[in-house]
Amino acid sequence: MSTPTVRIDADRLIARLTELRGVGASGGGGVTREAFGVDDVRARDLVGGWMTAAGLTVTVDAAANLVGRRAGPVDTWMVSGSHLDTVVDGGWLDGAYGVVAAVEVAAALADVSAELAQGLCVVAFANEEGARGTRGMTGSRALVGQLEAAELAALDDGDVSLGDRIAAAGGDPDDLAAAAWDLSRISALVELHIEQGPVLAASGAVLGVVDAITGRQGVDVEIRGAANHAGTTPMALRHDALAAAADFVLAFEQLPNSEDSVRVATCGHLEVRPNVRNVVPGRVVLSAEYRDEDSDRLDAAMPVIQAIADEIAARRSVELALRWGQRVEPTHADPQIVATIERVVASSGSDWMRLPSGAGHDAQILGHHVPMAMIFVPSVGGVSHSPTEDTDHGQLALGARALLDTILALDSARATDHGRTE
Ligand SMILES: [Zn+2]
Repeated sequence: MSTPTVRIDADRLIARLTELRGVGASGGGGVTREAFGVDDVRARDLVGGWMTAAGLTVTVDAAANLVGRRAGPVDTWMVSGSHLDTVVDGGWLDGAYGVVAAVEVAAALADVSAELAQGLCVVAFANEEGARGTRGMTGSRALVGQLEAAELAALDDGDVSLGDRIAAAGGDPDDLAAAAWDLSRISALVELHIEQGPVLAASGAVLGVVDAITGRQGVDVEIRGAANHAGTTPMALRHDALAAAADFVLAFEQLPNSEDSVRVATCGHLEVRPNVRNVVPGRVVLSAEYRDEDSDRLDAAMPVIQAIADEIAARRSVELALRWGQRVEPTHADPQIVATIERVVASSGSDWMRLPSGAGHDAQILGHHVPMAMIFVPSVGGVSHSPTEDTDHGQLALGARALLDTILALDSARATDHGRTE
């Protein structure tokens, strides 16, 4: 392959991200592009034009993923991209950065007519965020054949079915199987994303190499005590469901402190009955979740949590019933791609570190089926899903450069392999 010097155009990258920020601008710097809505479709049209200008052949697949491709002589594909949809009043970089940077990689290649051995596929995955109460990661799940008919028929919070939403955005819900990829032809998926957390910024690293995407286990706890008069019921004779819940919340928070336990644990939701000042609380429903990159640790925490509940129930004479909720398995990055990214970022001279992703991404869906890794850039203040979400512009350019260099390195390794086996 000819190898002219390929350069990221940092000004074009930032200008395009800034233009995209105006599509669905919700004031105060925030962005609202709910999946399949008017502004999401406008954003996809805008980015589709940039894909075309970068020499990519653009299609909207049956699941309404926006896909831009350039084929190479070797029939395998390197994939990069992210999502263009946002949460309500979200930030300008979550998802958009990974898509625009991947388009920029293609544009940088086109600028100097650089050739690759493999194909390059740039994707804006449909409905990553789970708009209007939907499950999310719709597009990436369709690509691996995991989107089911029942999900397409279900009505969202706007009383429209996911199938109708997909159709309105240019997809074809009746032919969803057509969206599924031949996964054996994908040699690498690299998603560039803002960290959405404080780890890189706190460490001073500019680039993060993601070696795993966290798994998650949900648990709901129903606590039944006895509602009673707050003035006449002696302290020793109470069955206070909220006080028991408080014990549970604090014990649950301590889970990550024991050795070989999970990374984070959060009780995020409480419903208290009757929830008035002068009645001993009789019933609490509590929703919690915990996350880790190791599936065994997610499992091992379950009996520990059950024991916490049993101990509190016995000590406070209340009932604590656990119901295990949604489980998302962790996804591990491909060691060879991780090693390639580490070589690339080390030779760039930027400070970098390895870290897990604490948030979910489309890469975690695809990463169960194809070799995957992610690259992170720092989030100012660790803030995301917020109008104040931001990243230093120089760091955004460094991340895009790392993506470009990773694609080039993966491609030349494949070209060498291919030359050997021909
Ligand atoms: Zn995202």
